[in-house]
Amino acid sequence: MKVLTLSDEIRLPRPEQGTAPGVQHHSCEHPGCGKIAGWGFAKPRQPSHWFCFEHRADGERFL
Ligand SMILES: [Zn+2]
Repeated sequence: MKVLTLSDEIRLPRPEQGTAPGVQHHSCEHPGCGKIAGWGFAKPRQPSHWFCFEHRADGERFL
């Protein structure tokens, strides 16, 4: 696996759709959902929690 430096990252193409290189896919943490989660909730130095649009309100308790 190639280690990206900051200058490498700047030269990467930026697709208008899809996920940028290096960006993790997250799944909604709502029980039984598992959709792609676009909403992340995290406090500093704590693990982040991810939810889809529909369940993003679930994440507010982690803030
Ligand atoms: Zn969900």
